[in-house]
Amino acid sequence: MRIIAISQEECSELLKRVSVGRLACSLDNQPYVVPVRFSYEPERIYIFSTVGKKIKWMRQNPKVCLQADEIGNSSNWLSVIVTGTYLELSEPQYHTAEREHARELLAQRPDWWRIPLSEARDRLLVSSMETVFFRIDIKSISGLRAEPEPTI
Ligand SMILES: Cc1cc2nc3c(=O)[nH]c(=O)nc-3n(C[C@H](O)[C@H](O)[C@H](O)COP(=O)(O)OP(=O)(O)OC[C@H]3O[C@@H](n4cnc5c(N)ncnc54)[C@H](O)[C@@H]3O)c2cc1C
Repeated sequence: MRIIAISQEECSELLKRVSVGRLACSLDNQPYVVPVRFSYEPERIYIFSTVGKKIKWMRQNPKVCLQADEIGNSSNWLSVIVTGTYLELSEPQYHTAEREHARELLAQRPDWWRIPLSEARDRLLVSSMETVFFRIDIKSISGLRAEPEPTI
């Protein structure tokens, strides 16, 4: 097996194909990682979320990281890491238009809202459940591919 860096274009293609990644944030030197669904477009990533620990942490420390991958087997995979800045679309300057854009992008995949809402429903009254759309403004993207050694 060899592991090689992939181009920015290949990273973008992977981010367009996949819809689930692991979002990392941190507070007071404590990392926290959760799986989320996302939609990518150049320079940004959109996510719909219930308000809980990750949102409270990202409001305090907006530096985040998202990892996504396609794993065939241990010697055949692609992995992409994005770093960036959390930006909540409920802030007054981000009007309905961008929230609507985020909703439309996420809605291209079925049931985009189901996991966050189902996950929170057992613990919260639906009437008290707060949700947000947010975006990650991308600062860097890197990607690796593992592939079997070519046979000679
Ligand atoms: C495939 C998949 C896709 C998902 N997509 C989304 C999405 O798009 N948007 C979204 O908001 N949520 C999504 N979730 C749920 C998400 O991973 C979190 O569980 C959820 O958002 C709650 O996170 P929170 O930080 O608000 O936790 P809180 O509700 O504040 O939870 C508090 C505590 O519960 C524990 N906890 C929370 N989540 C998890 C977890 N996933 N695994 C183990 N322990 C946990 C942690 O220890 C945390 O300290 C998805 C989950 C999966 C598996």
